[in-house]
Amino acid sequence: MNNDNSLGVAVLDTGIGFTVYDKKMEKDVPYGTFALTLINTDYEKIRNSIGDTLKLYFKKSFNPNDTEQFAITLYNKIHLHISYASKGYLRKEHAHIVTNLLVREILNSIETEHFAINGIDNCIPVIFSNYNIRSCAKDILQRYSDDLASIVRETGTYEINSQLLNMETPVYYLNSTAEYLMLDLKMYLERSDKTVKECERCGRLYLPKRKSDKYCRLPIRGERKTCNVIMHILPNDEFAKVRNTARDKQHKQIRYYRDTRNCDYTFLLNLYNDWSIDCQKKCIEFKSKMDIKGFNNWIEETKFTVETLTEEWEKHNKNKEICVPNIKSEN
Ligand SMILES: [Zn+2]
Repeated sequence: MNNDNSLGVAVLDTGIGFTVYDKKMEKDVPYGTFALTLINTDYEKIRNSIGDTLKLYFKKSFNPNDTEQFAITLYNKIHLHISYASKGYLRKEHAHIVTNLLVREILNSIETEHFAINGIDNCIPVIFSNYNIRSCAKDILQRYSDDLASIVRETGTYEINSQLLNMETPVYYLNSTAEYLMLDLKMYLERSDKTVKECERCGRLYLPKRKSDKYCRLPIRGERKTCNVIMHILPNDEFAKVRNTARDKQHKQIRYYRDTRNCDYTFLLNLYNDWSIDCQKKCIEFKSKMDIKGFNNWIEETKFTVETLTEEWEKHNKNKEICVPNIKSEN
């Protein structure tokens, strides 16, 4: 690891958040919001954007004179995703800083290889190529875990270059976005009183306004309403009523089947539970489209009948028969 300041950014820890300095600006960023931005970023899309730009410029041999143009193209491609992912808790300027950090990190990795890249994956910042980092960070933000050691191990970030300003305020000099992530999560765990939640509709992470919040208030591409508004738009929840009635009926049906046929109840219950989970998902999906007819149709199509239950039970027994000889042959 370099011990210089290869991203050209200094992060000042003010005790309530970070002040990030680069050549042009200085802005305060609350703890945890850098990590939030990363996690809410569409990994697939950002990797494709980086890959496409690299392919464009490295089709033949890369001309170092094109570095500036390359950086601008890369910036514009990546920034779309970062800016969308950061809306709701980072200001525009912060999103620009995050994009800048990523572009500089990619440029650094290309320069280290003397402009001869071998494999696009080597140029993708580790925070977007390693899914373990993402899931660890997600758990930390939701306070399911405080396992920073995993992040250290996965990113290989064992120390961060720092010094004390005015004998008291630490300043960190960053060499990678992974270092920033580490720092951000550490301070979030130690000093932030906030707890991030996962939206039950869109799956993005957000900072709730109330403890009881289930849905985010983050903007959605192509829609005017947020998840929170969409999910609370119906005064008395018609969708939940339909779901509950359907669940009662389905449960009654498996009990009836148990009482009239020689069928294992655990098997029936598992069947019901799987269906019930799907039903909840469909309830959310159809509610977000305000499509009660579609939801009713789905319930009708997946309704348990004597025929469908018999079919499932026979399928289950057949699978069991197939498994038995295998176990025997091993012994
Ligand atoms: Zn949402």
